[in-house]
Amino acid sequence: MQTKAVPFSSKILAALVLSACASWTAAAEAPPVAASELGNGLYFISGGGGANSSALIGDEGVLVVDSKLDIASADAEIAVIKGLTPGNIRFLINTHEHPDHTGGNLSYGNLGAVIIGHEDVYQILTAGQRGGPPEPLQARPSITFGNGGGLTLHFNGETLEVKHMPPAHAASNSIVHFVTANVYQMGDVFSGDRYPTMAGGTLQGFIDGVDQVLAEANASARFIPGNGPVGDRAALESYRAMLGNAQSSAAQAIKEGKSLEDFLASKPTAATDATYGDPARFLTAVYNQAKEAQ
Ligand SMILES: [Zn+2]
Repeated sequence: MQTKAVPFSSKILAALVLSACASWTAAAEAPPVAASELGNGLYFISGGGGANSSALIGDEGVLVVDSKLDIASADAEIAVIKGLTPGNIRFLINTHEHPDHTGGNLSYGNLGAVIIGHEDVYQILTAGQRGGPPEPLQARPSITFGNGGGLTLHFNGETLEVKHMPPAHAASNSIVHFVTANVYQMGDVFSGDRYPTMAGGTLQGFIDGVDQVLAEANASARFIPGNGPVGDRAALESYRAMLGNAQSSAAQAIKEGKSLEDFLASKPTAATDATYGDPARFLTAVYNQAKEAQ
């Protein structure tokens, strides 16, 4: 039986979320919100404070995935969407609960959008996260699914498959597959410009989740990461190789009795640091997980 959806004390959770999300783009220093069409009425929306999002626009209205960091960024995003269509915004899907993906939920809820996400998203927004107050009712999901679950939406001629992934970045992390557009919105299970962070999941969860998507996706699929540019299959395969390299490097280091400091000094991810940036926090988490698993 599924018990409490919030797995940690709020204090520990707040600390984890804070540490996991230190590299968020704040609204003040973010580039402007911009939409670019990926096909079949699906727009990739970059910029603003917080994570990448998307909007599916068509005759039935608008569906948005993730709501950016705050109300100002969400309102800027809504203004961009309103410039593309007079249609009503009817659905918002949250890939997980972190504020850079849900901070603008209230703007969407106030427009009457039905919010969808993993049950943890509901529970955590209802309790309040990072020591903050509970989110208003209109900012919380009203349709949820549990571990290993998901749902299918038929909207604007598109079929969307929302699927919970193994705990990787967050325990709740879910993806959205736009079947006709052949686009997977990966939330923070995929990152295009930084090493992944873990706030409720594990490196093995990332590997299992990415493998699941790669097994299903065809050669021309595209992948919207939580941050960074839209990737093609080669980009997701490179990311998967990086995850595997980190895992095997940490296992080898521990086998050789290397300390964390020696492991970091050996620069196991040197080949991918140009793409993903400073690996220290990621590799520290990977090393500590491998050590605990011994
Ligand atoms: Zn996150």
